[in-house]
Amino acid sequence: MYQNLNFLDTEITFLPGVGPKRAELLNKELNIFTFRDLIYYFPYRYIDKTKFYKTAELSPDMPYVQIRGFIKGYSFEGQGAAKRLSAVFSDETGTIKLVWFKGTKWIPGNFPPGPEYVIFGKPGLFNGAINIVHPEIEAVAQKSENMGSVLQGQYSTTEKLKNQFITSKVIHKIIGNMFQLPEFKIQETLPLYIIEKYNLPLLGESLRAIHFPVSQSEIDRAVYRLKFDELFYIQLNIFRFKLNRTTKYKGLVFQNVGAKFNDFYYNHLPFPLTNAQKKVMKEIRKDLGSGKQMNRLLQGDVGSGKTMVALMCMLIAIDNGFQACIMAPTEILANQHFATISKMVNGMDISVKLLTGSSKKRTRDNISESLRDSSLDILIGTHALLEDKVIFRNLGLVIIDEQHRFGVEQRAKLWRKNVSPPHVLVMTATPIPRTLAMTLYGDLDVSVIDEMPPGRKPIKTAHYYDTKMNMVFGFLKKQIKEGRQIYVVYPLIKESEKMDYKNLEDGWDTFVRNFPPPEYCIAIIHGRMTSELKEESMRLFKSGQAQILISTTVIEVGVDIPNASVIVIESAERFGLSQLHQLRGRVGRGNDQSYCILVSSVKLSKEAIGRLEVMVRTNDGFEIAETDLRMRGPGDIEGTMQSGMPFDLKISDLGKDGQIIEYVRQIAEEIITADPQLNKEENFILAQNLKSLFYKKESWRDIS
Ligand code: ADP
Ligand code: MG
Repeated sequence: MYQNLNFLDTEITFLPGVGPKRAELLNKELNIFTFRDLIYYFPYRYIDKTKFYKTAELSPDMPYVQIRGFIKGYSFEGQGAAKRLSAVFSDETGTIKLVWFKGTKWIPGNFPPGPEYVIFGKPGLFNGAINIVHPEIEAVAQKSENMGSVLQGQYSTTEKLKNQFITSKVIHKIIGNMFQLPEFKIQETLPLYIIEKYNLPLLGESLRAIHFPVSQSEIDRAVYRLKFDELFYIQLNIFRFKLNRTTKYKGLVFQNVGAKFNDFYYNHLPFPLTNAQKKVMKEIRKDLGSGKQMNRLLQGDVGSGKTMVALMCMLIAIDNGFQACIMAPTEILANQHFATISKMVNGMDISVKLLTGSSKKRTRDNISESLRDSSLDILIGTHALLEDKVIFRNLGLVIIDEQHRFGVEQRAKLWRKNVSPPHVLVMTATPIPRTLAMTLYGDLDVSVIDEMPPGRKPIKTAHYYDTKMNMVFGFLKKQIKEGRQIYVVYPLIKESEKMDYKNLEDGWDTFVRNFPPPEYCIAIIHGRMTSELKEESMRLFKSGQAQILISTTVIEVGVDIPNASVIVIESAERFGLSQLHQLRGRVGRGNDQSYCILVSSVKLSKEAIGRLEVMVRTNDGFEIAETDLRMRGPGDIEGTMQSGMPFDLKISDLGKDGQIIEYVRQIAEEIITADPQLNKEENFILAQNLKSLFYKKESWRDIS
């Protein structure tokens, strides 16, 4: 039935032991459709099946254990939801209890007292005695064959699968069935010369070993080979496209640093640049004059002064006769950039305009015209810039602020707004750990602003339970007396969530009660307000008339009001680490000591406590991002960055596999440099695999 196909492309339903019903469950629950999906479904842990414990040895801090012994009898205990089936299980050293909350009807019938059983489970402690809840049981006599393997893989399953008896053991068994098929065949994915040069086990061998290992060292080698594969192909893909891009597209050459740049630099610069800003400008200028199209990621912690760098780059573009634009993820931020940049170039002959979703038709027409006749130099805006109607005469530089807020397609759209692609500078305050950057943005060059403007004091962060709000209010009043301003932020996960708005409204009421007019003025801002009202609130706060700004996370990115030196984050436990860090970055922008107060309920999960502790301990964005990566896993981070990772990582862990990534990156670079199109005979397999792995993504992959 599968002669014409690659063996691994066979649908799972044709595997002995599966069939249409189980196939459907595996599709739905685990995303397993083909033999390949199944064979790449790896165990998350191994159990040493040769090791048996005695009941007297057990303690509740042990992981999963195996014991041999006898069931002495069953009884029901407890009431209602706590009702459970309990069995007395003993060996020659003592007895423990086995407990079931589910399946209580069929357990005693299937495992009657009498024969010797092997049970498997995690020891726990209940009322001072050792028990095992929901153990696996099998009679000693029928212990299944394992292809000679003593370490048995454990596969994760879902509740639904377990209810249909597709347990870890069943998955293990059907994988075994696949290996036993006469047609079984694994095609090697790496050329022999790589396998030999880097001393890797063969793919087929590794896949066997990861499912049916005979020793731990065999597992280690298999895991290494499979990670190598996965990460190597990502890097290979990145280098191939980077090379393609630079050969395919000629970059606009910005030869001069001209009159406008110099006028600004010598006469309008409001403060001396930091060394880091200077260094980054040098890197960017080199790109712009090189004849290559720039694709650069500018990374700098919140408040490090990226906007200034953006402006100076735009001035270089203008000096070379080009237009420039900057796109920001929120209207508030676009407004702010417009205000800051207009002010900075005030008195110079530079035309700056703002385009957002709420721009009126007249403004739009006016912008269109000035874009066409080249009288407009800088266009600042939101997603509105992406609209087809926005046509530049000669767009030379695109800057995307807080780029992690934009999808790849959106970035690509701007890229296409000029006949020859403009230079692209994407900016982010989300400190991306090195390994992640190498995987996701490996085709971007990276510049880092690793220094804050002088005079900044580290923000002091404290965590308070919401039962202690009176203390917080007292502190805030003191700060206001000293002339400071305060942000209060409420979580708003989805704009539509009613509950979130209720929190915001309740919060507003509480604050107004504690900070009554006319002594105090409180402004509010959230996504449901019209842009006029939003602007009015921002104006009140920016001008200092309002001492407190209550808001949702609409202020999360970019907002820059140096006199606001305190931020109170309500329900802080509901935010992720990088979001907390971004929010905290709203303060600490002036010379005053700044504070971040994290307010949470008393009931906290272990993870939430961990997050809040990290925030209190450090201001270092990179440390926070690394911790975030370790705590949450890259999947989530990837999600928030919307970067479109080419595929899900099946075995690699970006938080932990940094060394392998660096290693395979070097190898990939060497190969592509020697054989850019992978045309050499020895690289045939590489070309073929790249195509099948990344085929669908090619349309946008050369655009960053
Ligand atoms: P971010 O990198 O988070 O976008 P901004 O560009 O908003 O940071 O800059 C943060 C604040 O620091 C702004 O008020 C800006 O004017 C100020 N700033 C930027 N560069 C310098 C500098 N070299 N010296 C002093 N202040 C600076
Ligand atoms: Mg910014």
